[in-house]
Amino acid sequence: MEEIEAAVHTYFSGLRLPPDPTIYDYLVLSLRPKDVIATFNWDPFLWLAAERNAATCETPQLAFLHGNVAVGYCPNHPVKGRISTRCHQCGEPYRTTKLLYPVTSKNYASNAFIDAEWSALRNRLPHAFLLTIFGYGAPSSDSEAVELMKCAWGTTEDRRFEQTEIVDIRDPDDLEETWKPFIHTHHVDMFHDLFDTFLLSHPRRSIEAALKQYLEAKFISENRAPRGCSLLELQSWHRALAEIERAHRST
Ligand SMILES: [Zn+2]
Repeated sequence: MEEIEAAVHTYFSGLRLPPDPTIYDYLVLSLRPKDVIATFNWDPFLWLAAERNAATCETPQLAFLHGNVAVGYCPNHPVKGRISTRCHQCGEPYRTTKLLYPVTSKNYASNAFIDAEWSALRNRLPHAFLLTIFGYGAPSSDSEAVELMKCAWGTTEDRRFEQTEIVDIRDPDDLEETWKPFIHTHHVDMFHDLFDTFLLSHPRRSIEAALKQYLEAKFISENRAPRGCSLLELQSWHRALAEIERAHRST
């Protein structure tokens, strides 16, 4: 098993982002530090996107629920960072995270790093107003994951106005059945394309736009980031929004 894990680690560690904007760039640029992107993926794309956009905008928190090849953790502190670097607090080299396989019982709590990543999601989900599920089919082998998310989200009766959006190419009835515990009555939108979501229709302002639209019934126009542009152009477009955030904080 260790041999397989090492081979998987080597393969995924070699993956890199292309120079042009990817869906990962759009995701990290469209969210703020109050937001969390939780992923089950082992590949380094999300981490690399957060790194290359960090100088443009404050990026969201990332939670790697099944471990990740780009990320290491400090054995002495609850800190994570780029693998092959050292903890900025104690100088200890970051350790490789465990990669969890698609088996039924994953026992998340048995690994300190994985447990901390789940805590980040568990602590944020109860306060979330908008939940976007992208590229995750909730297979039956992941019942433990779905159960944990369900506990953090609360019952649909607790969640009276919250909005869930699901990006998947599956049949809508099938999706609604899978994600029933997360959907309050009719507060769900389903899309085939991530770019159609509320999240990417209102980058860095999705919560403000959602509160206006869903609670105050004031529809505000979309503000989509450009497509088909260079990464520099995409960053420059988002930088304008980040500057407003900075100015707002300093007043
Ligand atoms: Zn440390």
